[in-house]
Amino acid sequence: MRKIRLKTTLSLVFALLVAVTVFLTSILSGILINHQFETYVTASQKAQAKELADSIGSNYDATSAGFNIDYVHGMGMYALKEGYVLRLYDANDQLLWDAENHDMALCHDVMEGIQAQMEEHRPHLHGEFVTTSYELGNGTERYGTLEISYYTPYYLNENGFRFVEALNRILWVIGALAVLAAVGLGILISGRITNPIGRVIAATGRISGGDYNVRIPTDWKERETSELSDAINTMAATLQEQEYLRKQLTADIAHELRTPVTNISSYLEMMADGIMEPTSERLTNCYDEAQRLSELIADLERLQRAESTELILQTGDVDLYELSASILQGFETKAREKELDLHLEGAHVTVEADAGRMGQVIANLLSNAIKYTDQGSINVGITTDGVRVELAVEDTGIGIPQEERERIFERFYRTDRSRTRKTGGAGIGLTITKAIVQAHGGEIRCEERPGGGSRFVVILDAKGHIETV
Ligand code: ADP
Repeated sequence: MRKIRLKTTLSLVFALLVAVTVFLTSILSGILINHQFETYVTASQKAQAKELADSIGSNYDATSAGFNIDYVHGMGMYALKEGYVLRLYDANDQLLWDAENHDMALCHDVMEGIQAQMEEHRPHLHGEFVTTSYELGNGTERYGTLEISYYTPYYLNENGFRFVEALNRILWVIGALAVLAAVGLGILISGRITNPIGRVIAATGRISGGDYNVRIPTDWKERETSELSDAINTMAATLQEQEYLRKQLTADIAHELRTPVTNISSYLEMMADGIMEPTSERLTNCYDEAQRLSELIADLERLQRAESTELILQTGDVDLYELSASILQGFETKAREKELDLHLEGAHVTVEADAGRMGQVIANLLSNAIKYTDQGSINVGITTDGVRVELAVEDTGIGIPQEERERIFERFYRTDRSRTRKTGGAGIGLTITKAIVQAHGGEIRCEERPGGGSRFVVILDAKGHIETV
C-alpha cells in the first residue's frame, strides 16, 4: 500500500482544523451580524413610523382645530417613497388624507416594488404590509388618528441589500484568506517537524549502507528532533568506532600470526629441502613458535570471552588482601628467578567480586610487572577510604611513557620499549584485565611510579575492611 507522507497528513490535519474553525466562525458571525442588522432595521423602521406620527401630530393647529393638509401631503409623499403608506383621520374619524387615494399608481408601485424586492431576497421572511394606528393628540385633546402601513417585520431597499451582500462577501473573503493562511502555515509547521525526520531517514539509510561518516545537524528548534539527531549521530559514531576496531583487530591478528607462521614454514621448508639439518635446537625453535601461536589463539579466546557482553560473573565476598596473597604465591618462583622482591601490604578489604576473574586481574598485572622489570621490587598495596578500594601493583621496571598509558589497554597495543624485548606478549593481557575490572563496575589506570617504573591501580567498591599494618 502506498504510504502517505507525514508532511501531507500534518498539513491536511492542520488545514482542515483551521478551515473548519474559520468556516464555523464566519458562518456564525455572518448569521449573528445579519440577525443584529435585521433587528436594528426593524427597530429603526418602527421608530421612524412613530416619528412620522409625532411630526404630523405636532403640526396640528389647535386654533383652527385642523391639520395643515399641505404639510400632511408633503410628509405623506416623502413617507411613501420610504415605504410608509399614510392615512390621516380627524377626531371624528373623517378621512383627511390618504396616500392611496392621492396617488394610487405611485402607491401601488411602491408597495409592489417593496413586496417583490423582499420576496426575491428574503423569501423565507413571509413579510406583509401591516397597518399600525397612532392616536394623535396632546394628552387631553384627541386630534385624530394616523394609520401607517409598512412592510413588516422589516424591509430593505436596494442600497440596504447591497450593504448586506457586501458585508457577507467581506466575511467570505476573510474566511477564504484565513483558510489560505492556515494551509500555508500548516505546510510551514509540518515542514519544520518533518524536515529533521527526513534528514534522519536519509542518514539512517546511508548508515545501513555502511557510510558511518554521516552526521546530521542537531540545532533544531524543537528539543525532541534535536535529541533524535543527536542519538543518530552518536549511533553513527559508535558504529564508525566499532568498524575501525574490527578492521584494526583483523589487521592486528594477521600481523601477529604472520611472524610465527613465517618462521615455522621457512624452517620446515629448509629442513624438508635438506638445506638445513633438523637439529633438536631448530625443532625446539619451531616448537616455540608453534607454542606462541597457540598462546596467541588462547589469548584471543580469553579476550573474546572477557569482552563478550555475556561476561557472567559469579560474585561473592572476596577479601582482596587474601586473594592477592594467594596469587602472589604463584609468582614467587618467577620473581626469585629474576631476583626481584615481591611485597604485599595494606588492608583486608572485602569486595563483591568474582574471585576467579579478579585473581586473573591481579595475575595479569603481576605477570606484566615481572616481565617488564629486570631489577628491584614489585609491590602490591591495598588501601581504602571505606567506600572505594585501591589495589596498586608497582614495579621498578622499564616504565610506560605518559602518552602511551591510555593506549596500552587497547588490543594488541605494545609500547616500543617492550617490543624490543623478547619477553613481550601479544598485547592482549591488559585489554582482558580492563574488561574484567569494568564488568565489576570498577576502573583501572596506569601511572608513573615515583622513582621509576610503572604503577597500575584498580579501583573497586569496598564492602567492608579490617585495618592491617
Ligand atoms: P603483553 O602481553 O604485551 O604484556 P599487555 O596487554 O599485558 O600485553 O600489555 C600491553 C603493553 O603494555 C605491553 O606490551 C607493554 O608494552 C606495556 N606494559 C604492560 N605492563 C607493563 C609494565 N608493568 N611495565 C612496562 N610496560 C608494561
